[in-house]
Amino acid sequence: MFERLSEEQRRFVGTVRALAQSRFKERAASYMDGSFPWENIRALAELGVLGMAVPEELGGLGLPVFDTALVLEEIAKVCYVTAMAVLGEVGVQTRIIAHYAPEAIRARILPQVCRGESILAICMTEPDAGTDVANYRTNVERVGAKLRLNGVKTLISRAEEAAMFVVFTRVDKRPGREGIGCVLVERGTPGLAVTGSFHTMGGENLHEVRFEDCEIAPENLVIEEDGFRRLLSSFNTQRCLNPAISLGLAEGAFEEAVRYAQERAAFGRPIAAFQGMRWKLAMMYREIESARSILYRACRSANPFPDPLLAAVAKITCNETAQRVTSEAVQVFGGYGFTDAFPVSRLYRGARYGTLGGGTTETLLDLIGKRVLAGLDPADGISGLANF
Ligand SMILES: Cc1cc2nc3c(=O)[nH]c(=O)nc-3n(C[C@H](O)[C@H](O)[C@H](O)COP(=O)(O)OP(=O)(O)OC[C@H]3O[C@@H](n4cnc5c(N)ncnc54)[C@H](O)[C@@H]3O)c2cc1C
Repeated sequence: MFERLSEEQRRFVGTVRALAQSRFKERAASYMDGSFPWENIRALAELGVLGMAVPEELGGLGLPVFDTALVLEEIAKVCYVTAMAVLGEVGVQTRIIAHYAPEAIRARILPQVCRGESILAICMTEPDAGTDVANYRTNVERVGAKLRLNGVKTLISRAEEAAMFVVFTRVDKRPGREGIGCVLVERGTPGLAVTGSFHTMGGENLHEVRFEDCEIAPENLVIEEDGFRRLLSSFNTQRCLNPAISLGLAEGAFEEAVRYAQERAAFGRPIAAFQGMRWKLAMMYREIESARSILYRACRSANPFPDPLLAAVAKITCNETAQRVTSEAVQVFGGYGFTDAFPVSRLYRGARYGTLGGGTTETLLDLIGKRVLAGLDPADGISGLANF
């Protein structure tokens, strides 16, 4: 796995792996009730993991998306809930603040993110518009010297813990995708309320967040013009980090399945001795290695954001691999696999998330299909050798 990684990358990822295996694994089941994995977040902050997306001058490590993906992969092998919590700190919302926020907010919030003291929420999805972003109703408008935000967002991760909400919103009621920008809203702003709650099959809680006449300083409107296109560029990073979690879940379940197949006996032999079982494990391994190759290639295309086509292909591949591999791992465990006595059922449930967040599979297939029909450039690396 560590081929062609630098010594520094090996050391960093190895340290995270050791922490995840020795501490996070035993705690993972305790987060299935929706509690936030604060112990793990603090331990990762001490290693510098939460500052991976924060520039060095603000206390972070300023690492590329590839390093971030490797770290998420290690965490997801043992704990989906922790990997998702970390994604919130190293993903698109931190990058939006790092690239676009006013200096005062960057200087205050980002060092807190690095220390694990400020959790960030991203608010895109609305009750009547998830994939269909052109139908967002949330709107921010200028009222005198201030901005006023109104709207409802839903299925929001980490809303109860968040110190800052990165909100995608229509600006001055301008229509369509082009009318969407981004504002930062701090916890405690009058009119901001975290309301309805959903418990997910992955273990975490999601929330509804309401903004009712929230007054916001004008400098908190961080993306206004041509907002959606700029937001989408940042999103290609998320399309490499979400699949890194899927890949980790598949690997974690696979490792459990290999161990169990060697220990569990049937008909007087370990079940791994049966060809049917060996082939199952071989197919799981084959899928993981294929998914890993395309994901790493997509991550390495980042400059600073990954290539949209590679990221879309990598995301779908890893998401679907995780669903199949974790499901097969449950099968290897027989009836026990369906119980919560072993981690595979938890990893299987977490793996179901991948195709839903960060761009659904249907949306991404549409993107890929349009690019294919428009005629692929050899520089895409699909029809030519440009990227090899
Ligand atoms: C664990 C978890 C965490 C989340 N965290 C956050 C968060 O922090 N912040 C946030 O903003 N959101 C979050 N979400 C919400 C997530 O981003 C949305 O669920 C997602 O964008 C899809 O939107 P939707 O649920 O409204 O589905 P819809 O848009 O209603 O889509 C329903 C189905 O229709 C399909 N579909 C839609 N349009 C088309 C089309 N044109 N062609 C073919 N098929 C189509 C979709 O692919 C999907 O399968 C989270 C979701 C989950 C499960």
